[in-house]
Amino acid sequence: MAKTSKTWAMLHAKCPRCRRGDMFTGRVYSLTTNRINLDCPRCNMHFEIEPGYFYAAMYVSYALNVGTSFTIAMLTYFITGNTTSPWLYTGVIIGGCFLFAPIIFRASRVLLLY
Ligand SMILES: [Zn+2]
Repeated sequence: MAKTSKTWAMLHAKCPRCRRGDMFTGRVYSLTTNRINLDCPRCNMHFEIEPGYFYAAMYVSYALNVGTSFTIAMLTYFITGNTTSPWLYTGVIIGGCFLFAPIIFRASRVLLLY
C-alpha cells in the first residue's frame, strides 16, 4: 500500500499518527452512523487528547456551520436569484445544516486532531 499523505488521511478521517486506523466506526461521509472510535484500532492512539477536547470540537463545528451556511446562502442566491425572501434563505440554510451536520461533526474532530 502506498504511503498515505496527510491530506488523504484527513479526508478519510484516519488516525493522525499512523494514518491507517479509522477515527469513526461508520463510513466517513455517510449521513447515518456517527460514532467516533475512542482509540485508534491500528496503533491504539487515544483520540481524546485532553479533557474537553470534544467540547473544543464544538467550536470548530460551529465555525464550519457558519461557513456552510454562508456557502449555502450564496448558492441559493445564484440558483434562484432571490433577494426579497429571507425565509427562503432561512429554510435552505437550516435544511442544509441538518443535512451536513454529520459531516461537519466528523470534520470538526478531524481538523482539531491534526
Ligand atoms: Zn493510529
